[in-house]
Amino acid sequence: MDVYDLIIVGGGPAGITAGIYAQRARLKAILLEKLGIGGQIVLSDLVENYPGFQRISGMELMQKFEEQARALGLVVEDGEVTLITDEGEYKLVKTLDHDYRAKSIIIASGSKPRRLEVKGEEELIGKGISFCATCDGFFFRGKDVLLVGGGNSAITEALFLTKIVNKVYIVHRRSELRAEKILQERAFENPLIEFVWDSVVEEILGKDVVEGVVLRNVRTKERSELAVGGVFVYVGITPNTEFIDVRKDENGFILTDRNLATSIPGIFAAGDCRQTELRQVATAVGDGALAVTSVERYLG
Ligand code: NAP
Repeated sequence: MDVYDLIIVGGGPAGITAGIYAQRARLKAILLEKLGIGGQIVLSDLVENYPGFQRISGMELMQKFEEQARALGLVVEDGEVTLITDEGEYKLVKTLDHDYRAKSIIIASGSKPRRLEVKGEEELIGKGISFCATCDGFFFRGKDVLLVGGGNSAITEALFLTKIVNKVYIVHRRSELRAEKILQERAFENPLIEFVWDSVVEEILGKDVVEGVVLRNVRTKERSELAVGGVFVYVGITPNTEFIDVRKDENGFILTDRNLATSIPGIFAAGDCRQTELRQVATAVGDGALAVTSVERYLG
């Protein structure tokens, strides 16, 4: 079995950046990705806060990242990592099809959308419930839809939906949004967006497709029904870190030190999968670069 200097797990902004830095450091590296290069950001219709690009889609931005990494010779393999174990001198990385060995690992496995976990959700996913407005928005042309959440993802994607649907209700559990102020301003100005404050979705209604929701006002405790043809869920993220037994916080985000080392020597974490104050492409890129610098120091 080949022994790599470095295995990078995940091909989002952090992982690809790590790949670029690893190639330039002449490390024998490989990047494993389970779905397709790009990570969650490819689901974003518009990125406006990554310097150098005033307005670019997440997909196009990640294509540029990939082109740069491949031009430097980065090897990318399809593979879903199921387990990483520390064998002392080497780390063993198991995917569904292969075993790999490496002297060091960078986990850049990102995150996935968090579920609402309410009645009706499981049954109606793909039948009117979506976690990706950019992917599925066109199925809802001309309809009234509801979007849950008040963060950057919720507001960015609500603004995208207004180009397609008739009306977007944004249901948020507080009366203040978490999203960047510039996004808030655009949402408040948009006549196709109506906010439902201090409210949560208690149930999603519909037999074969979404027909509506039951809402509960968390202040007055009052329940009401709202007829909508679609529900978009943007209530945060949960990390893809089940395959590695390092120290994590209560939500599964990997704990690192300032050099991105995890609790296992030789294993580093970068980007959205680690506990961090800010999750943006810009910060993931910084993590990818720093993680490789730490790997080089570790390898000596
Ligand atoms: P987020 O920032 O964690 O926001 C999640 C939102 O969902 C919050 O408003 C939260 O309410 C609400 N929420 C959480 N659990 C809920 C529940 N059970 N029921 C109802 N509402 C619930 O998540 P995100 O918007 O998906 O973003 C993930 C990360 O990516 C963030 O770090 C974000 O900044 C980043 N991101 C950045 C950009 C950008 O820079 N343009 C774009 C997209 C994402 P509370 O506010 O009350 O907690």
